Amino acid sequence: GTAQIGVTGLAVMGRNLARNFARNGFTVAVHNRTAARTRELIEGFGTEGSFVPAESAEEFVAALERPRRLIIMVKAGDPTDAVIEEFAPLLEPGDVIIDGGNAHFADTRRRERELREAGIHFVGVGISGGEEGALHGPSIMPGGSRESYASLGPLLEKIAAKAPDGTPCTTHIGPDGAGHFVKMVHNGIEYADMQLIAEAYHLLREVAGYSPAKIAETFRGWNTGRLDSYLIEITAEVLAHTDAATGQPFVDIVADRAEQKGTGRWTVQIALDLGVPVSGIAEAVFARSLSGHAELRAASRDLPGPTPRPLGDEEAARFADQVEQALYASKIVSYTQGFHQIQAGSDAYDWGIDPGAVASIWRAGCIIRAAFLDRIRAAYDTQPELPSLLSDKQFAEEIGAAQDDWRAVVADTARQGVPAPGFAAALAYYDALRARRLPAALTQGQRDFFGAHTYRRTDRDGSFHTLWGGDRSEERTG
Ligand code: NDP
Repeated sequence: GTAQIGVTGLAVMGRNLARNFARNGFTVAVHNRTAARTRELIEGFGTEGSFVPAESAEEFVAALERPRRLIIMVKAGDPTDAVIEEFAPLLEPGDVIIDGGNAHFADTRRRERELREAGIHFVGVGISGGEEGALHGPSIMPGGSRESYASLGPLLEKIAAKAPDGTPCTTHIGPDGAGHFVKMVHNGIEYADMQLIAEAYHLLREVAGYSPAKIAETFRGWNTGRLDSYLIEITAEVLAHTDAATGQPFVDIVADRAEQKGTGRWTVQIALDLGVPVSGIAEAVFARSLSGHAELRAASRDLPGPTPRPLGDEEAARFADQVEQALYASKIVSYTQGFHQIQAGSDAYDWGIDPGAVASIWRAGCIIRAAFLDRIRAAYDTQPELPSLLSDKQFAEEIGAAQDDWRAVVADTARQGVPAPGFAAALAYYDALRARRLPAALTQGQRDFFGAHTYRRTDRDGSFHTLWGGDRSEERTG
């Protein structure tokens, strides 16, 4: 065969990825279960580069140069297993199967193990950036063996987005499921970022009394500063958009029930398993699910609450500045939590993930791309052993400077009755980490009382139990 890479699964993602490879000078074998899609690709875009269309799996495999590299871009879950079962018998040791779908990292670990026995490299790759990213340069998060990256990396580096300094937005994340794990956390952080921006919008609307157009303008201003990011940019676009049918702001005619495909939920489920407090991401997932409970919301509409007090122009402008501070501080916290989860996953599965490299490849191509990620990369590059992003001196200073406004905003949300669970959870996390003493001591006392679960002491080693039902003397249990 002559094709350096093959793509099977030619729906929007696979088609655009294949075109991206072809536009970068690679010969690309293309295949799809339903052959009509393959023909459409060739008819529509065949002149963009060198494609080798294949109708059958055998034809597809024969079109690839050795060691073969084939990317699966089909619906995640059972379809991915079906496609692997179809192709694996046609491959040879040393060949590389790449799954670019949104797989759960546990599935990737299983598939990698199974194929390793046959000498086939299985590489789970997280791809972010949607269909536009796939075509023009996504952020690519490959797992799998180091050996497979030696063969695959140069191709991925060619088609990946480039950060402002020219670095390709891809790197070997770590073995087996590491790439899909990092993609999952990326999506969790994306949920948190979106929620925080939505809360900022809601507060500017309900408390400052701004129109969607005025909020769009405010966000455009923020986007020239430290909050410079793709999500703030598109939020301004959405807010400035007018519905053609009614002439109303677009945001006012969209049903306020947010949907989800599930990767944010996975992030929280896995965080619970790993014992990592990702409260900001969890609040974002819960906020979406709460919004979807139409009957519950209808039944609660008349519950008592404060009447928001309208702000004067100057007061409103001052409040908007405070919201920017609250948004930035909360964003630092949600990235702190997300990177904690990446480090916990890396420790649990022995992946050796470099957090600075992760921040680096999120700088372009993906949904959470932002100027801010350059700062995270710099923090980890200069201090690889950083226990938390909040321990970075610069972030700590920035949060210190933002905290008065952040606290004022969270207090206002409570007083005015406008929900801001993301801002509030981020602040609670920050204050809990700062606390010299936590009420966890009392929790341990309660657990020892009802369940003899024992506790540790601040002044001596060992575990202890108090005879709560007896004379309340203390015994050492270990
Ligand atoms: P879809 O998830 O809609 O999947 C459609 C493709 O899967 C078609 O090519 C279809 O073939 C194929 N397929 C489905 N079932 C089978 C099966 N049993 N055997 C063989 N082929 C099958 O396509 P997308 O392009 O949206 O996404 C592809 C992957 O990329 C998914 O895993 C998705 O989660 C992931 N992803 C998507 C992003 C996005 O923005 N859309 C972003 C990042 C990742 P046929 O034409 O024959 O029906």
